[in-house]
Amino acid sequence: MSDCVFCKIAKGIIPSQKVAETDTLYAFQDINPVASTHILIIPKRHIENNLSLTPEDNQTIGEIFLLANELAVKQGIDKSGFRVVVNNGSDAGQAVFHIHFHLLGGRIMLWPPG
Ligand code: 5GP
Ligand code: ZN
Repeated sequence: MSDCVFCKIAKGIIPSQKVAETDTLYAFQDINPVASTHILIIPKRHIENNLSLTPEDNQTIGEIFLLANELAVKQGIDKSGFRVVVNNGSDAGQAVFHIHFHLLGGRIMLWPPG
């Protein structure tokens, strides 16, 4: 999508601090981190949010969780614990409408979330 910030980041049009990249995924540091590890994992293909997912995205979603595990190990938060969070829609606080998975860790987190 031409006016989507995360499409532009995935294409390198908007700069970002890249953490990992595959044929289908791009991972980068959140610009406003809320934990010592705060990485965003996105599919390169524009998908608006959870509700836009189709069975064609099954493999991509699986790859996202495996990449999150790999990055959690690299960040040293696999044993202490981490969250993989998707905010869907306005009540959940979704601000960017290109689906993204927050990998959060490095501090104790509360439940329920705010
Ligand atoms: P949401 O609230 O939609 O789940 O999360 C959007 C996230 O994207 C926020 O944590 C915000 O800090 C991050 N973000 C928004 N714009 C940019 C950007 O241009 N670059 C980077 N690296 N992160 C961004
Ligand atoms: Zn997009």
